[in-house]
Amino acid sequence: MTTKIATVEALRIAGVRDYAEWVGLRPPQMPPRPGQAARALDANSGRHVCAYPAQPDTLLVKITADDGTVGWGEAHSPPVPRVSQALIEDLFAPLLVGQDPLAVEALWDMLYHTMRLRGHSTGFMMEALAGVDLALWDLKGKLLGQPVYRLLGGPYASYRPASADESPRVPCYASGVPGAMLEERLDAAERFIAMGFTAMKVSVGRGDLEEDLRLVEALAEAIAGRADLLVDAHGCYDARTAIPAARRMEAAGVRWLEDPLPPEELDAYAALCAAVDLPIASGETECNRWQFLEKLRRGASDIILPDICRAGGISEGRRIADVADLFGVPWCAHVSISTWPHRLAALHLAVATPNFLLCELPNPLRENPLAFPLVEGEPAYADGHLTLAPGPGLGMVVDEEALAEYVVAT
Ligand SMILES: [Mg+2]
Repeated sequence: MTTKIATVEALRIAGVRDYAEWVGLRPPQMPPRPGQAARALDANSGRHVCAYPAQPDTLLVKITADDGTVGWGEAHSPPVPRVSQALIEDLFAPLLVGQDPLAVEALWDMLYHTMRLRGHSTGFMMEALAGVDLALWDLKGKLLGQPVYRLLGGPYASYRPASADESPRVPCYASGVPGAMLEERLDAAERFIAMGFTAMKVSVGRGDLEEDLRLVEALAEAIAGRADLLVDAHGCYDARTAIPAARRMEAAGVRWLEDPLPPEELDAYAALCAAVDLPIASGETECNRWQFLEKLRRGASDIILPDICRAGGISEGRRIADVADLFGVPWCAHVSISTWPHRLAALHLAVATPNFLLCELPNPLRENPLAFPLVEGEPAYADGHLTLAPGPGLGMVVDEEALAEYVVAT
């Protein structure tokens, strides 16, 4: 008798710490009010500021097979995970119950087509679909007794462990160099280097452009020869200023400039990529393979940064990596403030693709407020790498009693 999907649940969970304290930002992350100081560029003031939840939250997906085997996924969906929760409970769950859980990509296709002709091919739809997809891959791995990266055909040679009893390890970078003053940031950078990181990313674009460039130059100089500096401008520059800004960063030895422009401005991205040798990275905003195909055909990115929990999950993430490989473009995993399935899925997909570069690791100086305790499966950090725990599926054994403290009642 073949196994069938018995139940599909979507659980909202909330972190145990204040978000601003964790990421080292000073609230409020809101557009400036009239009369407040201008931000990066007068023309763009406040236009590109994301809304963040006051309390970090995410959405877990739990799929149980009729033999009792459980798979876990995550549909991150900040700052309103209730939207993805409704999609999963009202639209996806009734279609999934009774289906063969091993047919992961066929199920992905079925769910994607439910809303395709209504234009829902990005955003919350793809976040909800990602949550289900991750849970199905985890469940499939547990049913077949294999880690997800093996089901995907990995590991590629770069991630292959030295001996058969070890697990693959993935290079990662410290994301965010926290501090209000330059001295604090230089101190954080030194701590990352002492932890073994060889790359770290600083966030700019929320203040004066010249101040951004001086910060980048000071940090790049301080860590030169020991670690690479990546710069994320959060889409805050414009076509006029991005090229000279990128040239200054290139001269400072920056390894990549991420999201210098608003994500829709592909012509400006292509002009910027053509004008500088500094690699231009983007892609945390794109949610499906067609968007990445368009971006790469137009020469609008040198490195792509899909988020596995936003871009349709492991199934679509692999297709996106394949599209990028057609253009000789590497991919890096965007991993936001989220929890285990998100991070583990990025790592499993990384070792099963030929063109992976680096995984993001949000502020490793602070404990992740969403990282509920696991019985097994936490990836081990050492020397700028995360090592996957052995074990089938995504490798997690969830302590449901510990998890219950994080679950938001609905
Ligand atoms: Mg970014």
